[in-house]
Amino acid sequence: MAVCAIELTDSPYVVVSMHVMTRMSKTVWEILGRSGHFVPCVHSVGAPLAPGQKDVRWPCSKEHKYIVHYPETKEIWSFGSGYGGNALLGKKCFSLRIASIMGREQGWLAEHMLILGVTSPSGEKLYVSAAFPSACGKTNFAMLIPPPAFKGWKVSTVGEDIAWIKPGKDGRFYAINPESGFFGVAPGTSEKTNPNCMAMIKSNTIFTNVATTPDGDVWWEGMTDTPPARLVDWQGKEWTPGCGRKAAHPNARFTVPAAQCPSIDSDWENPQGVPISAFVFGGRRSDTVPLVSEAVDWDSGVYMAATMGSETTAAATGKVGVVRRDPMAMIPFVGYNMGDYFNHWLKLGRSVPRRPRIFCINWFRTDVNGRFIWPGYGENMRVLKWIVERCQGKGNAVETPIGKVPDFEDLDWKGLESFGSDKFKRVSTVDGREWKRELKLQDELLQLLGSRLPRELAARRETLGRSLG
Ligand code: GDP
Ligand code: MN
Repeated sequence: MAVCAIELTDSPYVVVSMHVMTRMSKTVWEILGRSGHFVPCVHSVGAPLAPGQKDVRWPCSKEHKYIVHYPETKEIWSFGSGYGGNALLGKKCFSLRIASIMGREQGWLAEHMLILGVTSPSGEKLYVSAAFPSACGKTNFAMLIPPPAFKGWKVSTVGEDIAWIKPGKDGRFYAINPESGFFGVAPGTSEKTNPNCMAMIKSNTIFTNVATTPDGDVWWEGMTDTPPARLVDWQGKEWTPGCGRKAAHPNARFTVPAAQCPSIDSDWENPQGVPISAFVFGGRRSDTVPLVSEAVDWDSGVYMAATMGSETTAAATGKVGVVRRDPMAMIPFVGYNMGDYFNHWLKLGRSVPRRPRIFCINWFRTDVNGRFIWPGYGENMRVLKWIVERCQGKGNAVETPIGKVPDFEDLDWKGLESFGSDKFKRVSTVDGREWKRELKLQDELLQLLGSRLPRELAARRETLGRSLG
């Protein structure tokens, strides 16, 4: 499923990062020969280093920034920014925006999805692909470590950000991770939240905008409970605890070869891809959206994914807690009309006989004090297990107007007996009043699509409206 691209850049940071993120090599010239097709990409930070300047920290143009994609000729021109997504053009610019256009033309999908494998104690293995908006837990979910009580269960990682998904000859969807590295957010990553990730970045890693310790190590907020006594912050200034500034930039990153991931899947570089059994969608919702639900069929699943919303965090917009629609977590990344994109999903799914089931998850419901009720992280394995069982035709579910949900007894609580049925109710009830309000909010998105709104989605909206009364 691979596609060749060539990026020209004036940034050494981009060159070294692209060595990690892509399969950059001489082989590409051999594949291309004299007339092979590639996606041309040009990048400039738009600002020269001053003569003798050694510090290459974020040179960029102050006045002009253009990140431009040409759908017709499939080329990318990026000027004035040294920031990851704007500069490492193989990532969002090519693997999502341009690739989504190629996928529409050629009958496949380029998605903002992680890919993981789940192996049960009996040795049965399934692959799941999940789309969450940025900062909603893709990297964490892709590297999930099951709780100790889940002996014999294993989660392996194929990708943690992007999936290219094509119909296979056996009537299933097959997915590859087009990248060869992880470009993850550093703050909040710790031995507690993501030990797999901490092991992965012990060596051979590029850190961007993190703080450094006197002995040359790195640090960021959330890495340890107590910060080191003295640091140099991400801007090169002296830093001490309590000085009032953040030591690392909130969007500080690590760039690391995927092969260093302790949970990397044995088939992560299989050129055929891995067969997908479930698509999972989710965002940050403090209410309304239950812990997990399953769509009754493909069209309602596409509706579920298309109307997905997530509450803003301060970093993204400045306003906290406002629900923003982010269909399939692809709002910033679809390279063509959103209504046509939904149609592509509806049609392509119909053409694949053994299409995956579609689920919606939400780890982020809060109590009256604003605290997360669901423990999350490794405990998400309980939800993942139910998803796997549903795909195997085993797990039990009850019908609600919005889809099928598990009862308390349908999840495996071994090792988490303290999380009783009362708490479960608080993360999983489907409240009719909340959902009627939710449908009104979803209408704002559907109206934006105008005449490009697929008939199937309009029909699903009608059905939902009727069943909620
Ligand atoms: P990505 O940008 O989608 O890859 O998201 P990350 O995996 O980097 O996580 C983003 C933020 O969400 C981090 O601060 C995580 O600690 C947090 N997070 C991830 N998974 C969970 C979870 O299951 N529960 C809660 N409460 N927070 C989570
Ligand atoms: Mn991530």
